[in-house]
Amino acid sequence: MLQKTSLDGDRVDTSSDGLRVLLEREAVERKVFELAQQISMDFAGQSPVIVGILTGAAQFLIDLLRAMPDEFTRDVEYDFVNLNSYTGTRSSRRPIISSSFGVDITGRDVLLVDGIVDTGHTIAETTALVWEHGPASVKTCIFLNKPVRRQVEVPLDYVGFSIEDVFVVGYGMDFDQRYRALPYIGVIEN
Ligand code: 5GP
Ligand code: MG
Repeated sequence: MLQKTSLDGDRVDTSSDGLRVLLEREAVERKVFELAQQISMDFAGQSPVIVGILTGAAQFLIDLLRAMPDEFTRDVEYDFVNLNSYTGTRSSRRPIISSSFGVDITGRDVLLVDGIVDTGHTIAETTALVWEHGPASVKTCIFLNKPVRRQVEVPLDYVGFSIEDVFVVGYGMDFDQRYRALPYIGVIEN
C-alpha cells in the first residue's frame, strides 16, 4: 500500500514513469459509451435523476450524459452530493451530506454514480441517505469496482470494470488531490 508521505512535497517524476497505465483513455471512453447506451435503454420512458458523489464521480457523470442520446438526456436531471466521511471513529462511519439535493428526488428514479467502490461504505451509506428522501427507485452506477476489498454488501447495477486491490488514480480519482484530471486510469509505482 502507498505511503502518503512518500509523495508529499515531491512533485518530481509523476506522469512519465511514475504512473503505470491500467486502463487507456480509449478503453475508458468505450466503457463509458457502453454504460451510457445500457442505462438509456434501461431507463427509457422514465426521467431519472442522476446523482454523482463529489468529487470522484464528476468526470464520469458528465461523460455518461454526453454519451447518451439527446432524446434521453432531455428528460434527465442531475445533481451532485458532497460527502465527508468520518474517519476518526470507525463505528460512526456515516457520511455527512454537505450539499443537499438541489433536485427534489421524492418519487423519482435515482441513479447514483461514483467512480470507485472499495469497502462499499460510501455507496451503501449514500444509497441509504437517498432512500430517506422517498425516491421511487435507486440504482447504482460505478466505474471501478474492487470486489476483494468489500466490507459491506451493496448491489451495484452498472459497473465499468472490476479490478484487483490496487490503488488507482485518474478519471476523477485522486492521490492527495492529484491526478484526478487524467483521462485514463493509472497505478502509482514507486
Ligand atoms: P469505500 O467507501 O467504498 O471504501 O471507498 C470509496 C472511496 O474511497 C472512493 O470514493 C475513493 O474516494 C476512495 N478510494 C477507494 N479506492 C481508491 C483507489 O484505488 N484510488 C483512489 N484514488 N481512491 C480510492
Ligand atoms: Mg479521495
